[in-house]
Amino acid sequence: MAIYIDANATTSLDPRVEESMRQHASVLYGNPSSPHEPGRLARTALDNARQTIISRLGLGRCSLVFTSGATEANNLAVHSLHQRIQEDRTFLVGATEHPSVLAPCIDLRSKGRDVEILPVLKSGMIDFDTLQKRVKSGDVGAVAVMAVNNETGLIQPFRQISKFLKSRGIPYLCDITQAVGKIPLESIELGPAFLTLSSHKLRGPKGIGALVKTGNAKISPQILGGSQESTCRAGTENVFGAIGFAKAVALRIHELQPCCDGWRTLRKQFWEFLCTTYPGIQSNTPLVENASVENTLNVMFPGISSEALLVRLDLEGIYISTGSACASGSSDPSHVLLAMGNSRDHARSSVRFSFCPETQPNDLEQIVDVLGRVLPEMKRLNRKSNRRNE
Ligand code: PMP
Repeated sequence: MAIYIDANATTSLDPRVEESMRQHASVLYGNPSSPHEPGRLARTALDNARQTIISRLGLGRCSLVFTSGATEANNLAVHSLHQRIQEDRTFLVGATEHPSVLAPCIDLRSKGRDVEILPVLKSGMIDFDTLQKRVKSGDVGAVAVMAVNNETGLIQPFRQISKFLKSRGIPYLCDITQAVGKIPLESIELGPAFLTLSSHKLRGPKGIGALVKTGNAKISPQILGGSQESTCRAGTENVFGAIGFAKAVALRIHELQPCCDGWRTLRKQFWEFLCTTYPGIQSNTPLVENASVENTLNVMFPGISSEALLVRLDLEGIYISTGSACASGSSDPSHVLLAMGNSRDHARSSVRFSFCPETQPNDLEQIVDVLGRVLPEMKRLNRKSNRRNE
C-alpha cells in the first residue's frame, strides 16, 4: 500500500502531461534562440505554452517569464520590487508567506531596506482593515500577500487586496502557487502586479515555474548573460518543461470543479471521523465555506509529535507532511502556525494532509484505519516515557 497525501509539497506527473511532453521530445530539440528551423519550431512551442498558461489562468493582459519554479519567481519578484520602490518606502510582507518570499525580504532588510512583516489573525488571515490603514498612511511601496497558504490551505483576501492596491497604484506580489487548479482565478483586478506559480504542484514536471507580470510592473533580471525571456531571465529555456507546464495548467483548470467537489466530500468525512475518534484535535485549516482550499487539512493532534507520526506513517506507506517541504530538515516549528498565535508545542503536534487530484475515498479509509492503530500506540508510548522521566 502506498498512499501519497502530500500534494501541497508536490504531485506526480499526470500521464496526459507526460504524453504531451513525449510527443514533442524527438521534434523539438532546437534552441529557441536559434534562427534556423529547429530553433524556430522550439520558439513557437515555447510561445504557445506561454500563451496557453496566460489564457487558461484568465488573467487578461499580462506577460509571463518562465523560471525554474516558484522559488525563483518569488525571488525575482521581490528583487524587482525592491529595485523600483523608493528608498524611504516600506515593503509590506505577510507573516505567513512562503520562505521564498520571506527570505529575500529579510535579506534585503539586513542590507538596510525597510521591510515590515504584516501580522495575521488567529485564522491565519491578513487583517484587511489593518493593511488598508497601513497603506493609506502613505509610505508603503509594495505589498506581498499570497493567495493560498501552502501549510494551512487558508485563502487570503487576495482579490480585495489586489483591487485596493490597484486603486492606489501600489505594486502587489501575489504567490498563486497553491491556488492554481484549486480555486478560480479569473477576473482578479490587477494593477502593477507579479504573480508566481509552479508546474510541479499541478501534476506538471518539476523544474519549471513562472512569473506573470501585469500593469506597469518591471522585472529586474537576476540571471544575466543572455536575452532570453525578453531579457528578464538569461539561459536557454526549458522547452519540454514549458510544454508540460502548459498542459498541466490547462488540465487542472478544466478539471477544477469536479476535483474541488470530490475534495470537499473527502475532507468533510475525514475531519468528522478524526473529531469523533480523537477528542481534543484542532484544525489549523479554517473549515468554513470558501475559507480554505478543499484539498488541505492541517491538524493538531495533542500530545503527538508530528515528526514521530510522519515517520510512523511513512513505515505504513502513507506519505504526509508537517507543513512546508521547503522547511523540512529544520527542527524549527512552522513559522505559519506560530504567526497564527499557536504555541511551539501546538505547531510541533501538527501535520498536513493535502489531497491530490487522484486521491480516492478508499485512500482516506485506509489512512483512517492506520491512524486508528498508530495514534493510540504512540500515545501509550508517550505516557510510558513520560512516567519514566518523572
Ligand atoms: N510558494 C508556495 C506557496 C509554495 O507552496 C511553494 C512550494 N512549496 C513555493 C512557493 C516554491 O515552489 P517551487 O518548489 O516551484 O520552487
